[in-house]
Amino acid sequence: MAAVPKGKRSKSKRDMKRNGFKLGVLSVVECPRCRAKKVAHRVCTACGYYDNKEIIKIKVKSKVPATPEEKAKAKAEAKAKAKVKAKSTPGRGRRFAGPVKKEAKTVKPEKKETELAAI
Ligand SMILES: [Zn+2]
Repeated sequence: MAAVPKGKRSKSKRDMKRNGFKLGVLSVVECPRCRAKKVAHRVCTACGYYDNKEIIKIKVKSKVPATPEEKAKAKAEAKAKAKVKAKSTPGRGRRFAGPVKKEAKTVKPEKKETELAAI
């Protein structure tokens, strides 16, 4: 038979116990790699690095074209993409999308590294 408490625990004792359940304050530190604020002893959510190793691959958000030149460039790129899509058959469209995605993933982090080196 399991151990059974001898008496009822008073509301005071119950609440005193629950007082210890509250959440503590997280210690926030500066990421040594990208200098963003991050939780200590956790992977940086900004660059995905911990202990100088890439743990998470962070997707870089596409830039919003600001200048008219950039807008025209983005439009031309979108048009080229649409053309490729129209040319490829439905079955092969997916296969074609693979290498393009990979390129974008590998190129963008390199850019970041060079920026960091400049600092
Ligand atoms: Zn970072």
